[in-house]
Amino acid sequence: MTGSDSKKLMLIVDDSKTNRAILHSIFEKDYELTEASDGLEASTLLKQKNFSVIILDLNMPNMDGFQLLDMLNADPKLKNIPVIINTQFGQEENELKALSKGASDFISKPYNIEIVRHRVNNVIMTTELAQQMINTEAEKRTLEKLHHLAETDSLTGVYSEQGFCHYADELRKSKDTEYTLLRFDVNHFKAINELFGAEKSLAILKLIADRLKVLVGNDGICGRLGADIFTVCMPTDKLDAEKIVNDLEQLISKTLPGFNASIYSAIYCMNDPETSVELMLDRAGLAIQQIKGNYLDRFTKYNGLVKDVMLKEQSLTNDMEFALGNNEFCIHIQPIYDIHTGRVVSAEALVRWNHSKRGLLPPDSFIPLFERNGMIAKLDHHVWGLVCAFLKKLKDEGVEPVPISVNVSRVNLFLPSLGDDIVALLDKYGIDREYLKLEITESARTADQTRLVEAVEKLKELGFTIVMDDFGTGYSSLRVLKDMPIDVVKIDMNFVAELGSSNKASIIVKHMSTLAKALGMTVIAEGVETKEQLGYLKSVECDQLQGYYFSKPLTEDDFIKLMKKS
Ligand code: C2E
Ligand code: CA
Ligand code: CA
Repeated sequence: MTGSDSKKLMLIVDDSKTNRAILHSIFEKDYELTEASDGLEASTLLKQKNFSVIILDLNMPNMDGFQLLDMLNADPKLKNIPVIINTQFGQEENELKALSKGASDFISKPYNIEIVRHRVNNVIMTTELAQQMINTEAEKRTLEKLHHLAETDSLTGVYSEQGFCHYADELRKSKDTEYTLLRFDVNHFKAINELFGAEKSLAILKLIADRLKVLVGNDGICGRLGADIFTVCMPTDKLDAEKIVNDLEQLISKTLPGFNASIYSAIYCMNDPETSVELMLDRAGLAIQQIKGNYLDRFTKYNGLVKDVMLKEQSLTNDMEFALGNNEFCIHIQPIYDIHTGRVVSAEALVRWNHSKRGLLPPDSFIPLFERNGMIAKLDHHVWGLVCAFLKKLKDEGVEPVPISVNVSRVNLFLPSLGDDIVALLDKYGIDREYLKLEITESARTADQTRLVEAVEKLKELGFTIVMDDFGTGYSSLRVLKDMPIDVVKIDMNFVAELGSSNKASIIVKHMSTLAKALGMTVIAEGVETKEQLGYLKSVECDQLQGYYFSKPLTEDDFIKLMKKS
């Protein structure tokens, strides 16, 4: 308490002028003083200034010291101001009562100036210290609370990304245990939202989190990285990733009638202390991207190979736009034969990428990538254009054209403008609709079945022939036949490949064929490679055949030659 500007404010409340004068002389050097002659006056002053300490007489007119103490206690803003009671010597009963009302200390007449000063100083100091402690405690609790909030996913109660990374990082520091990360997400989770509503999809996320907690137990930790992406960190020898994933798939499917939940997952062994948990999770996410759309292999492990694939995909993605303008994409055309007459009655256009640096690339090396990053929309449109141009070329060269089917990626099927886009292309080249058939693949998952049916109906209304490709590989083949206006089914080549070696495959092919024919559809078998397969397919009344046994996909020129010959 040195310079006057830093003096603390003291309020002296006493009805005796003499007492106030004595106290004044004791404290004026160290405090900025304000005086009140009773409790009432004091209470007014307390509202106007921030006092650091009050010296209070107990016996006063109007409002006595006890009443003022009560008032202070009742006001949260004032209750922490230290109050020192100014009493007559020997009034123990009053002192006790004042103490019980929160007074801090006493001074009594006759005053020993040094003692009085010390007492007042001490009281102020302890009060301030206590106040600081309360503040830091509260701050600490608030910080802890904020921290907890940031580390916890508010929807599900499992760790947030931040919390998960933090604690997974702690876990992996353990000397004698190796930990592994599991990352996964639910395929077509957005469809849950569309089919069952937002509330249900939130409930599913909670359900997953709750079950995950049980499955992980005390062995590890789990978290939600956002959307429908969850993650687990467990000792490598205790993590049964497939069990966790299967359990969750069943749980979701059971909760959502008609929805066949599938989960894509990747594991990442945390044995490199230099790699951050965040990066590991990113990489696991990229590894999952590699297997998306692959219905049999929904489980992967991040390793160097994945990284190579990722780098290659990145460069293909970068090259795509240029390649379109540079005419690097071309079509090969595979003829489709009538089973009875052996004539070419149709064909399928299959894209190839004549990459300026990598050479001729098969579709499997870029189609799945472009389906994931959305570029397939552009590419398919480009291919349809090539096919229309080719059909025109056939006409121009005097070759009787056959209908050519093009593959319509699932991504495009839901584009509202799809039908009109194709019609515009056909018109541009002056081609009739019957010459361009559209191959779509059966929904392997039933989630967007309704949308699929609607999309197909729309195309059908525009007059297109619809071919159901890879028939039999989805989960809803029969439903597809019943609900969708399909003209042609193409029996998946995996069934054809097994004809002869698997009794079951033969039976399935036979029944699929009979059923489709009974419904008035044309049946194509694709991937026919052997005479034996051909023999069997003839016996089950298949209509058309496509496969290496007859012809591989041909270049445009070779296809024209073939057509001219026949
Ligand atoms: P897909 O539509 O099922 O096409 C049939 C695939 O089987 C073609 O492979 C064809 O070359 C091959 N194939 C034909 N006959 C035989 C045979 O006897 N034995 C065997 N083992 N294979 C045979 P390709 O050309 O590599 O195409 C692979 C897939 O890429 C296609 O499967 C299709 O899903 C996709 N694709 C091709 N072109 C396009 C396109 O323009 N757009 C889209 N979205 N996808 C395309
Ligand atoms: Ca096809
Ligand atoms: Ca196929």
